Amino acid sequence: MARYAYVNGRYVDHRQASVHIEDRGYQLADGVYEVVGVRDGKLIDETPHLDRLDRSLKELRIAAPVSRKTLGFIIRELMRRNRLRDGLVYMQVTRGVARRDHAFPTAPVKPALVLTTKNTKHLVADVGPGIAIKSQPDIRWERCDIKTVALLPNVLAKQAARESGAYEAWLIDSVGCITEGASTNAWIVTKEGELVTRQTDNGILAGITRGTLKSIADTLQLKLVERPFSLAEAKQAREAFITSATSFVTPVVKIDGDPVGDGKPGPTARRLREEYVRFSEAGEAVV
Ligand code: PMP
Repeated sequence: MARYAYVNGRYVDHRQASVHIEDRGYQLADGVYEVVGVRDGKLIDETPHLDRLDRSLKELRIAAPVSRKTLGFIIRELMRRNRLRDGLVYMQVTRGVARRDHAFPTAPVKPALVLTTKNTKHLVADVGPGIAIKSQPDIRWERCDIKTVALLPNVLAKQAARESGAYEAWLIDSVGCITEGASTNAWIVTKEGELVTRQTDNGILAGITRGTLKSIADTLQLKLVERPFSLAEAKQAREAFITSATSFVTPVVKIDGDPVGDGKPGPTARRLREEYVRFSEAGEAVV
């Protein structure tokens, strides 16, 4: 089956899809992106993801390449063409193509819009065996709230994790606190049973899954505290887990080689994942 990508107004063969060599995303990482999860042909949390895309664009003063309505149409058309039942929709907007210069182009430039889809396995309520984490220094800039394609520190942290046999890296700030994962938000459950995740500010990305999980925790009447927590505290926690559009809720069973709790996925992460999977089942299937 042909796989399509959307590139600046056209649906093209994914293998042939390309952008100009002077696209500012390619040369300067001058662009933003979003990833929306798809389960059983349904988009998960489309509206907050597109709201965050708008916010990222505004922060960088990049114009929206198409209206919200048109973007919604393009997403659905690409899903249909690629028969995407389980996976993700990736969308990227860059400032566009211009003669290389760090400053914004002075002549009007059309922002570039690219969408791709990726198939992944069908995510189920079962949490699986859990994952291992490796801690890494957080060497990123001070605007981690913007979802930019400038991901080199995240790339290096994730690679260091993978080379040590861990799945994800947790990034540690200058005072020893965990900000977030290389591509996920970080959570712990304390010995007292409190859910803890770092507050959102310029130091982390406000994960959409994180936001949805906050409401789920509220419905379940779990106590949630948004505050910094240290690596030492995480290692002592009863449970730990990560969240993202593509990992949902995934338990952390090891941090830097030490087991978290009894070294097995815990009940809170299990429950939250179940509820999140139930949440993903709402709405109309596109494919
Ligand atoms: N933090 C970072 C750095 C990320 O890249 C991601 C994934 N986009 C997240 C957190 C999780 O965000 P979301 O739940 O919106 O996927």
